[in-house]
Amino acid sequence: MGKEKVIVSACLLGEKCRYDGATKKDDGVLAFLADKEVVPFCPEAPVLGTPRGRISIIATEDHGLRVKKDADGTDVTDVLVEQTETLIKAHPDATKIILKSKSPSCGIGTTPILDEAGNEIAKGNGVAADLLLYAFPDIDISDENTF
Ligand code: SF4
Repeated sequence: MGKEKVIVSACLLGEKCRYDGATKKDDGVLAFLADKEVVPFCPEAPVLGTPRGRISIIATEDHGLRVKKDADGTDVTDVLVEQTETLIKAHPDATKIILKSKSPSCGIGTTPILDEAGNEIAKGNGVAADLLLYAFPDIDISDENTF
């Protein structure tokens, strides 16, 4: 049997790809991955740059959940979806996924969902997490607190 192949939010691995240029390196995740094949994944940095302004998930009246820049409301949903779909196509044989909690891209049930006035109305999935959960229904997908 081959090695387990784990897709992991790149900021958990020590990459400085967060919006503020920081990392969220997680020693527990790194220790778990020691004997596994790791696929780093960050949907935001390649298309939005680092550092970058904050983005949030907005429950819009007309278009459902969209990811928008806090600063000027630019809708960045489609580029994040593209990044995630490219990953899914490249790694259909992934055996596990570990994502960063609370992120508008990577959070699983922990991401603030805002109304159009910027008030939190619920917690939900980030846009990438949502696509990954749909694409990989049979493997464990969790975050750095639950893997
Ligand atoms: S949480 Fe996801 S999108 Fe944000 S920096 Fe980490 S890997 Fe990139």
